Amino acid sequence: MAYQSVNPFDGKPGKSFKELTDQELETKLKTAASCYETWKHKPYAERAVIVAKAAKLMHEKADELAHIMTSEMGKRISEARGEVEFSSRILAYYAKNAQRFLEPVKLHPTVGEAHMESSPIGVIFGVEPWNFPYYQLARVAGPHLMAGNVLVVKHAGIVPQCAIAFEQIFIEAGAPLGLYTNLLISHEQSDHVVDDERIKGVALTGSVAAGQSIAARAGKNVKISSMELGGADAFIVLEDADLEHTVKWAVWGRMYNAGQTCCASKRFIVVEAMADKFLERFKAALEALKPGDPKDEKTTLGPLSSEAALVQLLKQVDVAVKHGAKVVMGGKRIDRPGSFMAPTILTDVKPDNPAFRDEFFGPVAMFFRVKDEDAAIALANDSDFGLGGSVFTKDIERGKRVASRVETGMMFINNIDWSDAELPFGGIKNSGYGRELGDMGIQEFVNKKLVRYARMDAPA
Ligand code: NAP
Repeated sequence: MAYQSVNPFDGKPGKSFKELTDQELETKLKTAASCYETWKHKPYAERAVIVAKAAKLMHEKADELAHIMTSEMGKRISEARGEVEFSSRILAYYAKNAQRFLEPVKLHPTVGEAHMESSPIGVIFGVEPWNFPYYQLARVAGPHLMAGNVLVVKHAGIVPQCAIAFEQIFIEAGAPLGLYTNLLISHEQSDHVVDDERIKGVALTGSVAAGQSIAARAGKNVKISSMELGGADAFIVLEDADLEHTVKWAVWGRMYNAGQTCCASKRFIVVEAMADKFLERFKAALEALKPGDPKDEKTTLGPLSSEAALVQLLKQVDVAVKHGAKVVMGGKRIDRPGSFMAPTILTDVKPDNPAFRDEFFGPVAMFFRVKDEDAAIALANDSDFGLGGSVFTKDIERGKRVASRVETGMMFINNIDWSDAELPFGGIKNSGYGRELGDMGIQEFVNKKLVRYARMDAPA
């Protein structure tokens, strides 16, 4: 069964759902396309009523929604509640600001006058991952629905109840039939959706492999796409960093969401003068985490999202060790029921080790000791990914200089507070293209139309 809830805390299966038949899928696409014909003409204020109501409902149902998430993918309950509240804020943010973001922009041609206007383009297909089961959906629903587009979304196979709950929020908010549609479909059906002429754009968040497949398909159909893919973010510690402050962020940066975050800190690059002190305190802080029920507020280490995710991570650690990496701590599953991975630190990961270019999607930190700032930047840039990264130094101007030299889509100085409705999110290189959130996030799937008005004679 492709859509199946399993609680990773105890391995107990929950509800399962059948994939749509091709006929059911056709009906949903038809309904979405027909909804677009009226939705695109609605004034912003009318769209905002529904999107803002969805935001309000998410806030009111935060606890219920958070529990569904924790049961399906093991996120600790406080983090799950935080995610629902943030998703609600994203929807509210676009309900409030979309019109301003998409207002016509006056241009200044040499002759006459001109402006750019932004108009919706049609039904957008979203493909989303399990690691932030609501936030990822809100990141596409807020901007694209407010822009006048309509959404059909394929969510990950392990979080069907989150997918259905989010769709339900829009139904309760009074959305017209077809405005936001959850599609329980196979990869093959997903290819057909990309090919379908009613679909005008594709937004995917997920692994590089999924991005390559869907982006290629969209390209073949000459359809616009945005790709939010993986990352191997560097966490750079300079010799003048505030150690206590830095170690707290290091733990959060690697361990938030049990380490299953695209822009989590994955490569800890520490200058020699700070290396021993940092490693000792980082290790002690990770050792202090207590595995337990993710629904218990006191638990500080939850399970991974699924047994398959744990098996995959253990395999990656194995490969890393076979190629010369040393395990400073962890490296194994925790001896208890459920899909728990011990917090792990790997050192001595050399460039010829496959781990050097890998994304560890879980609580596995790679630690690198470097001579100085230049060496730290060079190592940070020696990556196939380019999502985010961070630098810790008491000298903010120095931090800004380092941030400018690291080749990623996002850099954070003395924090890794990645996401804010206001701030664009996205990467370069294998981390994908396009931006979600902020003003940029709503500009991705709109027609930027030039209108020029000038009284001039045609050239002879
Ligand atoms: P994944 O396996 O690529 O799955 C993501 C989504 O793509 C799921 O809905 C999945 O469906 C679907 N999918 C995968 N292959 C597909 C194909 N060939 N055709 C159609 N759909 C396909 O990724 P994941 O393991 O769920 O998520 C983790 C990855 O996402 C990590 O690499 C992480 O860094 C990245 N991520 C990036 C961001 C960002 O903003 N840059 C944010 C979060 C996560 P099924 O579940 O049915 O296979």
